[in-house]
Amino acid sequence: MRPGKMFGEILCSLFKKPATNMYPAEKLDMPKNFRGKIVFDPAKCIGCKLCMKDCPSGAITINKVGEKQFEAVIDLSKCIYCAQCVDSCPKKALEATKEVELAQLDIKKLKVVFGANPKSDAKE
Ligand code: SF4
Ligand code: SF4
Repeated sequence: MRPGKMFGEILCSLFKKPATNMYPAEKLDMPKNFRGKIVFDPAKCIGCKLCMKDCPSGAITINKVGEKQFEAVIDLSKCIYCAQCVDSCPKKALEATKEVELAQLDIKKLKVVFGANPKSDAKE
């Protein structure tokens, strides 16, 4: 690289926004369509279990808990965040979020239960 061009690059770099993130001091803004933690909306689920059938890692289980009521159990330790279940669901009951801070010391806490009551939060 010629010295003149190099000087231009240096000057440019001085005023450019850094390409790196100061994580965890700064929160990450994940890109649109990022496939993070999967969430389940029991109000939309019809219990067809297509998500279970298509999940490549056996991470999702749908249980019938009442008349036309279903809960989803998602094992985040098995999930590979491919979002195949989201694509397979005919009722859009599953959604990939931008949530990435999922690390746990206790593996049992990675099993997330989304109850049949839409107002209840996911239990871990
Ligand atoms: S994101 Fe992929 S691995 Fe995770 S539950 Fe859905 S289909 Fe299974
Ligand atoms: S594919 Fe969708 S509607 Fe069918 S069981 Fe799974 S979450 Fe429910």
